[in-house]
Amino acid sequence: MDKSTVVITEKIPIGISSCAMGSPIRYNGKGIDVLKDLGREKSDFIWCPVCPECMAGLGVPRDPVHLSGGDGNAVWTGEAVVKNRKGRDVTEVMKTGCQVCLEALGRCHAVAFVYMDGSPSCGVYRTTLKNQRRGNPPGVFGSLLLEKGYFLIPSSDLQSPLRWWDWRRRLLAFHWFSTVELSTMKDVYEVWYRLKFLCQELDNTWAREMGKTLASIKLKDAPDFLAQFRKELSDVLRKPSTTKRMTNSLWKHYSHYRKQRGKTVDEVQSPEFKRNLTTIAKELTRMERTAVEDDYLFGASPVIYRDARRLKPAAGVVEDEVPPAP
Ligand code: SF4
Repeated sequence: MDKSTVVITEKIPIGISSCAMGSPIRYNGKGIDVLKDLGREKSDFIWCPVCPECMAGLGVPRDPVHLSGGDGNAVWTGEAVVKNRKGRDVTEVMKTGCQVCLEALGRCHAVAFVYMDGSPSCGVYRTTLKNQRRGNPPGVFGSLLLEKGYFLIPSSDLQSPLRWWDWRRRLLAFHWFSTVELSTMKDVYEVWYRLKFLCQELDNTWAREMGKTLASIKLKDAPDFLAQFRKELSDVLRKPSTTKRMTNSLWKHYSHYRKQRGKTVDEVQSPEFKRNLTTIAKELTRMERTAVEDDYLFGASPVIYRDARRLKPAAGVVEDEVPPAP
C-alpha cells in the first residue's frame, strides 16, 4: 500500500459567487475580493465566477431581492417566491439564472463553490446581512448547490488564514476522494489509510465506528457498503474543525514525525503554547511542506496541491513522461 501524501498537480476548478471575486455586480454595484487574502495561493485553483441574479437579467444596479414564504428550497417546490424591493415577483427569472449558473459550473467541472454569506440567492447556511433578515437559509442558488452535493465554502472564511487552511485541506481531500475508484475493499482500505486521521479529527465518533466496521465487514456481505462509505466520508470532510482540534492534531502528528524521522521542525509549537491563529496556520503549512519533502504522510493534511513544475520527484508522485526529443 502506498502510504505517502497524495499530491495533486492539476489545479482544481472552484465555483465562486462573482461578487466575492471583486466583480462590482451586487445590487448596489459593489463587490468584495475575498481571494486577495489568499495571496499567491489564489493561482493554485481555477476559479469559475457566476452570478445567478445577473444571469436572471436583473442588471446592475438593481433592486435587492428577498425570499417570501420560505427558503430557497421552498422556491423550487413552488411554496415561496422571490420578490424585489418594489414587490415585483422575479421567481421565474431567478430560477433560470440559477440553472444557467449551475450549467456553467458543470462545464467547468467544479466540485466546490465559495458562496457569499448573507445572500438570498447564493447564501447557503445563513442569509442575514448586517442583522437584517433576508429570508431563511438556504438561498435559491444555495438550495441547488446543496442538492447537487457541492463542497460549500463560506466566502468569509477565506479571510482567516487558519479557517482557510482547514477548508483547503478538506477540499483537496474531498476532491481527491471524489475521483478515487471504489470497487473493492482494497480500494476502501487505501482511502481509509490516508484519510482516517483527518476523519478522526473532524468526527471521532463516526471514525471510530467506521474503523470497527472496516475491521469486520466482508464486501460480498454488504453490497451497499461502498456507496455508504463514499457518502458518509464525503459528509465528514465537509465538517469544519476547531482551533483546538487542529493544534492537537498538529502536535500529535509532529511528535510522531519527530520520533520516527529523528528530525525537528522549529516553527511547530505544543498546543499549550499561546499564539495567534495566523501563526498556527503557518505552523500547519510548514508541517505540510516538511511532510511532502520528506515523503511522510501528515495525517491532518493527507492530500496537497503542488505545481508540477516546482515539484521535486518524490515517492508517491508520478511524473509526466517526457517525450523523446525529435
Ligand atoms: S447573486 Fe450571488 S454572485 Fe450575484 S451579487 Fe448576489 S451574492 Fe453575489
